[in-house]
Amino acid sequence: MYVGFKVEKNKPYLIVGQGLAGTILAHHFLEAQIPFEIWDASPTYFTSSHAAGGIFNPVTGRKLEKTWLAEELFNYLPDFYTRLQETLQASFFHPMPLFRPFAHAEMRTWLEERKAQIDHDYLEWTTEGVWIKEAGWVDASILVRVSQIYFRQLGIFQSREYVSSLAFGRVIFCEGFHGQQNPLWAKLPFLPAKGELLIFESDQPSKDYILSKNGFVLPLTVNQFKVGATYRWDEFSPAETADAQDELQQKLLSMGVDSYTRLITRVGVRPATQDRRPFIGMHPHEPVGIFNGFGSKGVSLIPFFARAFVREIQGIEELPFEVSIQRFSHLFSP
Ligand SMILES: Cc1cc2nc3c(=O)[nH]c(=O)nc-3n(C[C@H](O)[C@H](O)[C@H](O)COP(=O)(O)OP(=O)(O)OC[C@H]3O[C@@H](n4cnc5c(N)ncnc54)[C@H](O)[C@@H]3O)c2cc1C
Repeated sequence: MYVGFKVEKNKPYLIVGQGLAGTILAHHFLEAQIPFEIWDASPTYFTSSHAAGGIFNPVTGRKLEKTWLAEELFNYLPDFYTRLQETLQASFFHPMPLFRPFAHAEMRTWLEERKAQIDHDYLEWTTEGVWIKEAGWVDASILVRVSQIYFRQLGIFQSREYVSSLAFGRVIFCEGFHGQQNPLWAKLPFLPAKGELLIFESDQPSKDYILSKNGFVLPLTVNQFKVGATYRWDEFSPAETADAQDELQQKLLSMGVDSYTRLITRVGVRPATQDRRPFIGMHPHEPVGIFNGFGSKGVSLIPFFARAFVREIQGIEELPFEVSIQRFSHLFSP
């Protein structure tokens, strides 16, 4: 029978890492009144969250399918971010339509012929392409920064690297792609993916919606936009690369933007996994846990699974097996 992990009142939890994962887990700990501290050591460890495009989008792939768990994730997401904005008195949640033009005439014909099978509630079809409903973006960098101020005010944040500590009942690691260097988790099948995006100024793109065509252009202000994002799996330095910058330029051209001023490049490494599912749960033999592996979809996955993890910690409901680290129990044999 499943037995929940007891919350030890006199020995609080420690959350290691205050990227999007650690931050949102911490807010759920606060709601559940689980005592904890949260530590983060950026810039020693560079983060994915400050580089993220922040897009949430319930539709994926060429066949416009609903993403994995779309209904569950997208039922919780707007409520959660709206509530968090109120708590933090900040603005970072930006619901916004997303437009996917047909790549070419053959693609339009191919999709229209299958419209009856493909169609669902998140799609609105036009002759030029498809509008995706319930999409938008979260400014993850602002969310993380204002949360840090909030946690400092509560006296639960320290700018500090975790090495080891006995002062805590349990330690939950939210270290992003750095988790693969942690001996406790090194056997888990991480598959990190470095990404770059560019913030630029231009009069050409629309400021009213996110354009998605083999990449995205996302409006930030009247004339500032983000274009992204690139992927590579062979090196993980925080440095921008000439290849990625060329690729971003090509993406802009293919989305009709040829006149712009480059402002800033953002670089990060997505904490992706080989089976494309998160790593969540408590270690079978040590008083430690992990909340990681959210890949390129942290904004939509993290709130739902932070709530689910807290419910498991409280002994209310077990995590789904496909996200639980129990699926790798053979890697943790003593
Ligand atoms: C270019 C790019 C574009 C992206 N676009 C999107 C998007 O459009 N939509 C989306 O949903 N996602 C996107 N992502 C992915 C998103 O950024 C991640 O899913 C999410 O931010 C992961 O958060 P995290 O907290 O797990 O990791 P991180 O943000 O990397 O945070 C890990 C934190 O742990 C700290 N840390 C690590 N080890 C230690 C230690 N030993 N002691 C103390 N602190 C430690 C680090 O300092 C860091 O702050 C994008 C990523 C990139 C790179």
